[in-house]
Amino acid sequence: MKHGTFDPVRALAASKHTFGEHGGVNMDIEASTTFTVMAAARMPDLFAGRLDADQGCFLYGRHFNPTVYTLGHELAALENTETGYCTASGIAAIATAILQLCDHGDHVVASRAIYGGTHALLGEFLPKKAGIQTTFVRGTDHNAIAAAFTDRTRVLFVETLSNPTLEVADLQALAKIAHGRGAVLVVDNTFCPVLVTPSLFGADVVVHSLTKFVNGASDLIGGAVLGSRDFVRRLMDLHTGALMLLGPTMDPRLAFEVSMRLPHLALRVAEHSRRALLLATRLEELGVAVTYPGLARHPQHDLMRRQLNPGQGFGGLMTIDLGSRERAYRLMDLLQNQHRFGFMAVSLGYAETLMSASASSTSSELSDDELRKAGIGPGLVRMSIGFTGSVEDRWQALHAALNEVGWK
Ligand SMILES: *Cc1c(COP(=O)(O)O)cnc(C)c1O
Repeated sequence: MKHGTFDPVRALAASKHTFGEHGGVNMDIEASTTFTVMAAARMPDLFAGRLDADQGCFLYGRHFNPTVYTLGHELAALENTETGYCTASGIAAIATAILQLCDHGDHVVASRAIYGGTHALLGEFLPKKAGIQTTFVRGTDHNAIAAAFTDRTRVLFVETLSNPTLEVADLQALAKIAHGRGAVLVVDNTFCPVLVTPSLFGADVVVHSLTKFVNGASDLIGGAVLGSRDFVRRLMDLHTGALMLLGPTMDPRLAFEVSMRLPHLALRVAEHSRRALLLATRLEELGVAVTYPGLARHPQHDLMRRQLNPGQGFGGLMTIDLGSRERAYRLMDLLQNQHRFGFMAVSLGYAETLMSASASSTSSELSDDELRKAGIGPGLVRMSIGFTGSVEDRWQALHAALNEVGWK
């Protein structure tokens, strides 16, 4: 599938046209943790992989579960990958993907601007526990990325839109670098569901935290690993599968919950985007140091435009740099407690606006030096723009609070 011909909204809708067991408009939940065989002689076939979930044969709940696999197929349709499976969290999706692709002694090249938890996993946990080393590089510096590769590099890891700096990854160029060196491009698309389809540009594995936009209500934790049928089978291999043997698979009840949010994902994303663009545009006119990929001034605005699927805008995330931690805290205090603009909370993709000072929260795993290199200043406030209430009221609130803190 080529960029420009793939429509994630259509693909997702087509994948969801399933009936429940009794003709219900929703799928059923298959809660069983174990599955019968109709003849004793079939059991060995399941264990040897001669019969599997793709043929409708299930073994055990930690291995493939039909409801979780259905959600995996829906998300795979959204992301234009062959198939996918779901995990207990976004970080579990990332950890199992990396552990499946890398053996002890192997190497990862990763963008420096990534979610703090992933930074800690790659930079601290995996080297110590599994002997997998990561070199962090500026995600927009393709020469530095190519130079960081060693003959043990198995994975190039980036976020489509980086957390929290909103740097845009040039996926096609990165895929070319990775593939030229026999490595796999793994893309965390948590910030850009529906907006960008990384597989169209050569991403081999796409991971998601379903805890954010896909869920939309900040009430459940989940993740997904999407890629080729061969890769998902490897994750579930009874002898060497990271998902099967470390066990962070998703519960089928949760898979049902997530699946119920998918029909309105595109509507929500479009409204998050519309409001974020409106607020970012007005902030820019005011002269505030705002970063939003939908603004022409954003350094990778044209790249973002080229990679976007049409019609959903530029996403719901923006940042404001207040210059100092004190001012950032004062602004957020005012916005939550005086003006009811949103909540001071980590996470994103919620119906209400969520805001946090990244350096002292979701990126606090980075050292001061790493924060500086990643461009995460102490006064940087990340906002996930919500869609409740009147956007004009929200603008008034934001404007008033900025005037109170003296943002210049
Ligand atoms: C939140 C987040 C994660 C981790 O997801 P969990 O569901 O909290 O485990 C990974 N990547 C990005 C970009 C995130 O925002």
